[in-house]
Amino acid sequence: MRPRAVVVGGGISGLTAAYRLASAGWGVEVVEQREEIGGLARSTSLGNGRIECYYHFICGGDAHLLRLADELNLAESLRWAPAPMGHLYNGRLYRFSTAWDLLGFKPLSIIERLRLGLASYKAQRSTKWRPLDAVTAKEWLLHTVGERVYEVLWRPLLEVKFGPYADQVTAAWLWHRLWRVGTSRRSAFRAEVMGYFSGGSETLLGRLADRAACLGAGLNLGTTALALMPSSSGWSVETSRGDLMAQVVIMAVPLPVAAALTRDALPEYASHLGSVPYL
Ligand SMILES: Cc1cc2nc3c(=O)[nH]c(=O)nc-3n(C[C@H](O)[C@H](O)[C@H](O)COP(=O)(O)OP(=O)(O)OC[C@H]3O[C@@H](n4cnc5c(N)ncnc54)[C@H](O)[C@@H]3O)c2cc1C
Repeated sequence: MRPRAVVVGGGISGLTAAYRLASAGWGVEVVEQREEIGGLARSTSLGNGRIECYYHFICGGDAHLLRLADELNLAESLRWAPAPMGHLYNGRLYRFSTAWDLLGFKPLSIIERLRLGLASYKAQRSTKWRPLDAVTAKEWLLHTVGERVYEVLWRPLLEVKFGPYADQVTAAWLWHRLWRVGTSRRSAFRAEVMGYFSGGSETLLGRLADRAACLGAGLNLGTTALALMPSSSGWSVETSRGDLMAQVVIMAVPLPVAAALTRDALPEYASHLGSVPYL
């Protein structure tokens, strides 16, 4: 008998887990509440075409994703294109892609521009992010680039992305952003080059789902997981379309959903998950 797993969530994490487990000989059932796969990376119809619900790009340093694309014979579907950035300040849009753009960014003094350039350059070349996890992005920015750079450039970006949690975000996150985008840049004087799948993320997601299905995985769309309960064979996953039995359950869902699913079976674990602030 093949070992059995249930994967809750049909986004990229769940589909990758299903593909990997099925490749390793497991019997897998994916449970996805929507009628479509993809989660946050899903696409929708627009006119005669399809478009991603949210904008996704791939960077040169996204090694796991690039290896996965290769493994799924999708390397040739990847298109790399320059992705110029801008920064809106006081109603004016400034180009903000290269070192030249930074040097010409008049809202900051020349010393502030140089400090910011140096800090970004150092962050992009460092891989020592662990100590940064002990400080917030705000603290790190105030210390390395000063208050004005923080106010003009970073505070608005952090607030738009993290809302009420902007002040609590770890500097390790900020480092990763700078490092990751840096892996897509050939030189500080050229704009980043970002990768996109021809046909959008849907191309990757569809291929993952197809490969997992070819290896015997079941894809249960329109099926909501309601609760996890221990059973004689491991776990019973109660869903809107009946119970599924498995030795292993992988929850590839947002943390609050995972907390709700495990509330009765694993109260301590659920309360730990539930204590993590979530946007
Ligand atoms: C605006 C935006 C831009 C982004 N840009 C990028 C980018 O450029 N590059 C990048 O790498 N990442 C980007 N991301 C992040 C990326 O989209 C996510 O990290 C990734 O898609 C998360 O995948 P996931 O499978 O972990 O979770 P999700 O995509 O959230 O999938 C979870 C799935 O679980 C399902 N589900 C939830 N509850 C249940 C339940 N009870 N029963 C059954 N199914 C359930 C959901 O319907 C969903 O399909 C972006 C995200 C956003 C919002």
